[in-house]
Amino acid sequence: MPLIVLTGFPSSGKTTRAKQIEQYMLERLQAEDRPMRVHIINDDSLNVSKEAYREAREEKKARGALLSAVERLLTRDDIVIADGMNYIKGFRYQLYCVARGISTPHCVVHAGTPIAMAKEWNTKREPAAAYDSTVFDELVTRYEEPDSKNRWDSPLFTVIYDDESIPGDKIWDAVILRKPPPPNMST
Ligand code: ADP
Ligand code: MG
Repeated sequence: MPLIVLTGFPSSGKTTRAKQIEQYMLERLQAEDRPMRVHIINDDSLNVSKEAYREAREEKKARGALLSAVERLLTRDDIVIADGMNYIKGFRYQLYCVARGISTPHCVVHAGTPIAMAKEWNTKREPAAAYDSTVFDELVTRYEEPDSKNRWDSPLFTVIYDDESIPGDKIWDAVILRKPPPPNMST
């Protein structure tokens, strides 16, 4: 059913948050006896290496792969978590349009981690999982903060780096209980 879009700096804890959201959703779906599946789409599941972010063309391909996976997996019955940086406003708009196109709700979860902290976490990662420091700086420079005033960034949930858990109940209400807008309304 709904689309949950993660966004945040590189190494800001997006995948960690995506897993927390998945866990919350799975437990709640089971408790409420709803037969829905949860899919996390990210660079790991798409086999995209961190090297892709060194080069614009490769990075564009990676974004395309994420978008097609969302298009393929997003049905009215499944929950899809798009766990990428999703740092370009226009790309978040595209993701929002996919959900809108099949009349399913969507929301954005922002991993609100300061640059210095994300950078520190990045240096502590295993080399294969870490971003090169130049690439890291470039990605941070290009990052376009979500703004809940934009319909494609709304509803927006910001999870601060020291929040232990995600606001699962609020996300649930936003994407499971909320009636999606009709697909033919102007976007
Ligand atoms: P992203 O998906 O944004 O690249 P990850 O969730 O993979 O980020 O986390 C990046 C690194 O930071 C990992 O090594 C992870 O263990 C660590 N990390 C994530 N969240 C926290 C946190 N709240 N406190 C400390 N370290 C964290
Ligand atoms: Mg990640």
